[in-house]
Amino acid sequence: MKKSIDYPYLISAKELLENKVVPRCDFHIHTNYTDGKATVGQVFEKAIAFGLEAIAFTEHTEPWHNLNPEWFSEYCKEIRENREIYKDKIKAYIGIEAPAISFEGELGATKEMFDGAEFILGAAHRYPGIEGRKVSELKNNEAIDLEFKTLIGLATSPLINSIAHIGGTCSKYCTPFPTHLIREVVQLAVKNNVAIEVNPVYHMPLRNFIELCAEENANITLGSNAHGFNDIGLIVKRIGEEI
Ligand SMILES: [Zn+2]
Ligand SMILES: [Zn+2]
Repeated sequence: MKKSIDYPYLISAKELLENKVVPRCDFHIHTNYTDGKATVGQVFEKAIAFGLEAIAFTEHTEPWHNLNPEWFSEYCKEIRENREIYKDKIKAYIGIEAPAISFEGELGATKEMFDGAEFILGAAHRYPGIEGRKVSELKNNEAIDLEFKTLIGLATSPLINSIAHIGGTCSKYCTPFPTHLIREVVQLAVKNNVAIEVNPVYHMPLRNFIELCAEENANITLGSNAHGFNDIGLIVKRIGEEI
């Protein structure tokens, strides 16, 4: 089940467009525990230098990203140690980005990860049921269909705080994911109290995506999808430029 955290990370898309005040938080950051470049400590330094108030580390849970069976407990320990050091400067949360492994919203993560995570992004990565094939090998209409079914499952999940990069996998590897299907996913997520991530890697121009979320009364979360040193806080900068 979702945990409550002491930072107002859920943002009304409508209020964001009306007030034009971008919360200084970034809830999608990777480190060198998986495919990011920065260490946990370097992320803290960069986030504080950028002027962020809160961050969530959202490490990938697919087992091939880190073959050390101890990695998750080390990751949690390192975040806890650093957030104690920097507690007067920034809030930081332990999170995961877990892939859907069925069309019913089940996630690929261990019990240890669910227990340890304070923030959970659910993602459509390699779609359920395509074992042995890559997303890039799918026909366009097949990719759209599978992305949609995967996202619909996530939109009903009581486990996740927010759906990462809606349409991103289909758009990156096959064909743009249709807006009317994004809207259907957002509508279902709203009914189930699941938030929608706004992501500068996949949702440009951000303004259109945020407007769609506002029309459906959705809560959004901000996530840079940061994998390097200079993209921490990018979502805050980009939204500020666009709204
Ligand atoms: Zn992802
Ligand atoms: Zn990610």
